[in-house]
Amino acid sequence: MKIPVNTGRPYTVTVERGALDQVGPLAAQLKRSGAKALLVSDSNVAPLYGDRVEASLKTAGFQTRRFVFPAGEEHKRLETVMDIYRALAEGGFTRTDFLVALGGGVAGDMGGFAAATFLRGMDFIQVPTSLVAQADASVGGKTGVDLSFGKNLVGAFHQPIAVVSDPEALSTLPQRYVNDGLGEVIKHGCIADPALFEALEEGAVLEDWENVVARSVAIKRDFVEADTRDTGRRMILNFGHTCGHALEKLHRFQGLSHGEAVGAGMLLACRAGEKLGVTAPGTGERLRRVLERYGLPTEPGFSVREIVEATALDKKSDGETVRFILIKDIGESLIRPMTREELLEALE
Ligand code: MG
Repeated sequence: MKIPVNTGRPYTVTVERGALDQVGPLAAQLKRSGAKALLVSDSNVAPLYGDRVEASLKTAGFQTRRFVFPAGEEHKRLETVMDIYRALAEGGFTRTDFLVALGGGVAGDMGGFAAATFLRGMDFIQVPTSLVAQADASVGGKTGVDLSFGKNLVGAFHQPIAVVSDPEALSTLPQRYVNDGLGEVIKHGCIADPALFEALEEGAVLEDWENVVARSVAIKRDFVEADTRDTGRRMILNFGHTCGHALEKLHRFQGLSHGEAVGAGMLLACRAGEKLGVTAPGTGERLRRVLERYGLPTEPGFSVREIVEATALDKKSDGETVRFILIKDIGESLIRPMTREELLEALE
């Protein structure tokens, strides 16, 4: 499946079984023959798929180099970016060359950031191998790294020239990482796609990754494209994230993955929405069953007061007002500005 994305510079997301072998031919449609490609990947993914991707680039006429960093979020930092710059400089890379980020969110965020900043910006192709990277991070153009005092504090918007997603790569993903990605997939169903949500309810998604990833990418694309026309729709993608980010913070970014936190956050948003009379009764219960089905936590583990207090530091809040995202029903979302007091009352 090919999903065109029109945000800034247009590009195509290819979602196909076996697409890992298509990276070279797809790059050949966009880059001149003989260009250099730096394959950036981590120590988990490189041994699994590095050779295949590199072989397909070589066969398509590119010169390749490989940069492998130790797997783990703790390596998504400027020191590692410095090592990528060194590999690019030593390899004599110019702005006509490109970078290929192969792996999960860390490889995409950090490889994309290196590409955004080396020589003031070079092309990069994203080859996501985790569910969250395929279904969520492959659209939006956000790249960046963590600093010791906060996550994703340094970054740049930089669109890839192509995204190549192979759903077969998901088969090597540990279950917990699949569930982590499902948090965002469930979110996409909640905010825009009742059919996707029903497929999740029936458990049908587990045999149909190609469609699930493609659907998810298309939904995110629609919201992100709408925002370039300045309608503020992109905020909707934050469903479950206000409380989710607060929970991640309360858990000190350990023991609770982003997708798990978003799952618990969506459930809180549904319960608040039902109490406010905005969300159709029973929606929270449907969501709770889906979260449970995929092994995502349904209890936040903190009091609502602690959670609401922790939202105060969210970078997406301005002062006392939280632009809280609610759903009317599965597939229908809205933005509801609320003070922290109102939010606390709705959640209690
Ligand atoms: Mg998210």
